[in-house]
Order: sequence, then structure tokens, then C-alpha cells
Amino acid sequence: MSKLLIVGTVAFDVIETPFGKTDVILGGAATYIALAASQFKLDAAIVSVVGDDFPQEYLDLLRNKGVDLSALEIIEGGKTFFWKGKYHNDLNSRDTLATELNVLADFDPKVPEDYKNADVVMLGNLHPSVQMSVIEQMHKKPKLIVLDTMNFWMDNALDELLNVIKHIDVITINDEEARQLTGEYSLVKAAAKIHTMGPKYVVIKKGEHGALLFKDDNVFFAPALPLEDVFDPTGAGDTFAGGFVGYLAQTGNISFNNLKNAIIHGSNLASFCVERFGTERMENLEKKEIDKRLYQFTQLTHFNIELE
Ligand code: AMP
Repeated sequence: MSKLLIVGTVAFDVIETPFGKTDVILGGAATYIALAASQFKLDAAIVSVVGDDFPQEYLDLLRNKGVDLSALEIIEGGKTFFWKGKYHNDLNSRDTLATELNVLADFDPKVPEDYKNADVVMLGNLHPSVQMSVIEQMHKKPKLIVLDTMNFWMDNALDELLNVIKHIDVITINDEEARQLTGEYSLVKAAAKIHTMGPKYVVIKKGEHGALLFKDDNVFFAPALPLEDVFDPTGAGDTFAGGFVGYLAQTGNISFNNLKNAIIHGSNLASFCVERFGTERMENLEKKEIDKRLYQFTQLTHFNIELE
């Protein structure tokens, strides 16, 4: 089976949306990525760090999904990364109210020996120098290195971020972040500029407006599934990334055409994530529900036009 190495935060979140506010709940980029990727046939491991305040039931949840946690460090006396966010009424934009790095501030990641030959590496959102350290520890160049990041790291560690971006194959980034990274309003121009920074493929996520995949002059667009109820968009981007890399790791095919399928798998899983607060929906998601929506995706995007 293919191996997928996942790096990213494992976190405590507090989320406020127009529909309510949570207590402290399970969150983190790596958590959402792993929950999504665990829907595919692959071996997955998380490299991350938490404090000893992190509950056993959250560890059990991830382990029960088959995720290898041997490289999830637990720091005695340490506090887990904490994030608090509040969504605006349109649910497409949010304010970060708190980011407390805690144990992440001095994290020195250690890739497990048996994942130093992973086929796919997913560098989820966290400090870019941690992302870089993971790349440096690999024994051989992975088939695919995918990176996700956010404005926080552009504001706080831009040089390190630009350095790691040189070493990756695919970047997944949202539209506002693509604009911030490049200074270009047009997403087409932004993608072209990001290509020159390193990545062969650029994926721009546009929330409820879908996602774009760019490879030089080739562009592919996948809509987001129109949903009756959107409750909490937290983790949608990471779930998208988890579905994207999960499918690519399972199939082992990194052609442009297969990346298109991966975008659909990512969009499909993200459509579930937003239906409940936090990770709730992803925790009990079943294959038949996933397949049903994949079919809806084919219906949503299929048309016949005969070109003369
Ligand atoms: P998303 O909604 O896909 O952007 O991801 C939300 C998740 O990212 C939350 O569960 C947070 O714990 C986590 N998160 C928020 N800010 C950061 C950050 N600066 N670095 C890494 N992870 C973060």
C-alpha cells in the first residue's frame, strides 16, 4: 500500500458561526487531513505535536481510523496549539481571534524511519520551517509533495515559506492567500506567479465557489456541491487537501488528468465536513454516502455540447 506522510497542526479549536459557538473541540490541519485521507486505501502517519492536555479519546479517534500516531509527540507539561475563529454571516470569510502556538513554537519534527520513503507527503498548515525539515528528512524524493499554508505564515514567516515553496510539487491555497502571496488580484496571474516560485501545480480553493487547478496554461475547475445546510466551514480546506492527496496516494498516478479526479474527491469530502461543527461529520462518514455524492458531482458538471 502507498504511504502518505501528513504534517500539520493537531489542535484545540473554538469556533463561532452564525449558528452557534463551540466549547474547546478537536481541530488542526493534520487532524482534518488524516480524517479525510483515511477514506482511501493507504497507510498514513501524522508528524505533529500536542501537549499532555490533549485527551486520549482524540488519539483513539485517529488511531481507530488507522492513522499511525507514532510520530505525534506529546510534550509533558505542554499546552496544545489553540486556534479561535469567528465566521461572518456569509460563512465565506472569518476572523482569527486567537492563535496560540504553545508546543508548536519549539517543535522539531521527527519523521518515523518507515515513512522516510513515503510516496506522498502532505505538508499541512504549520510553521514553514517544520515543513522544510520534514522534506529534508526524506530518504528519497517522494512522488509528490503537496503544501498547504495560510495568511498567518505569510505574515509571520514569509522567507521560510518562500523557501519551502521552492521544493514542492503542488500548493493548495485559498483565493485571498494566493492574492496576498503574489500581489495579483487575478487568480490566473497569481497562479502563473506561483508557478515561477516552484510548484508545477497550483490549486486555488474558493470555498463555496469551488476550486481551480492550474498547470501552466491548463486550467481545470471543480464546483463545490450546492448544499442545503452549511454549518461550519472550519477544516474544509484541510479536508479538501486530505481527499486530494488520499486519492493520489491510493492511485499512484500524478498526471494532470488524475489530479482533476483528486480535486473532485477533495471537494466531495469537504462538502461533508462543513455540515457539522468541527470534525463531527468526518468522524462517522460512510463510504456509501461518499459514493452517492461523487455521483451527484458527475451530474452537476456533466453536459453535452457539440462543437462544430
Ligand atoms: P481550514 O478551515 O481548512 O483553514 O483549517 C482550520 C484548522 O486549521 C483549524 O482546525 C485550526 O486548528 C488550524 N489552524 C488555524 N490557524 C493555523 C495556523 N496558523 N497554522 C496551522 N494550523 C492552523
